[in-house]
Amino acid sequence: MPENGGNSGFGGRRFDGNRLVVASHNPGKVREINDLIRPLGIEAISAGELGLPEPEETADSFVGNAELKALAAATASGMPALADDSGLAVDALGGDPGIYSARWAGPEKDFAMAMAKVNDAILAIEARTGVPQTRRARFVCALCLAWPDGHVETVEGEVVGDLVWPPRGEGGFGYDPIFAPAGHDQTFGEVDQDWKHSVSHRADAFDKLLATVLAPL
Ligand code: IMP
Repeated sequence: MPENGGNSGFGGRRFDGNRLVVASHNPGKVREINDLIRPLGIEAISAGELGLPEPEETADSFVGNAELKALAAATASGMPALADDSGLAVDALGGDPGIYSARWAGPEKDFAMAMAKVNDAILAIEARTGVPQTRRARFVCALCLAWPDGHVETVEGEVVGDLVWPPRGEGGFGYDPIFAPAGHDQTFGEVDQDWKHSVSHRADAFDKLLATVLAPL
């Protein structure tokens, strides 16, 4: 028998409280998550506000890192906690930079450099092999809700697209200027940002969370 009835076919645990911890010290991320869950009558408190430590992201997948962050915050706070982990996975690079997306930008968070690294790495494979490489890539977002008893529910969302070079557009952040979502010529750096937020990997993951763990009973 599913833990909470499961009349939608979702066999996992549902969140039925009205407060959760957002396991992030990034105020922008906490605000974005708050905007998404406020309509459900759920209030988000940030890990930063509670003074919770940030664990090292030592897992080898987006899901693993989201779970590790959510569990650390749930255990330390005694409240359910939500964490995300996201990045850019490039097919020709075997999924890199992947969970290292932020790290490719270095301590200065230099994303012009990180985008050039991605492009250079694909060109290097083409120079070495003589085989044209696909520019297919995806942004991935894992979201995990963890409870203090160690239970976790995790979803993963993605948006598929193609890399362009050189980077285009001033909007968005990170790798947005080199990523054009499938079927569109403009990059995430060029498109209307409200539209980006409606089709992004984070939107996809949130839709999945809203349809399962956060769905009304
Ligand atoms: P984190 O999940 O906050 O650790 O973010 C990982 C990294 O992935 C960010 O620093 C960005 O480089 C990249 N990333 C995640 N989402 C996006 C996005 O929507 N656009 C561009 N880059 C992103």
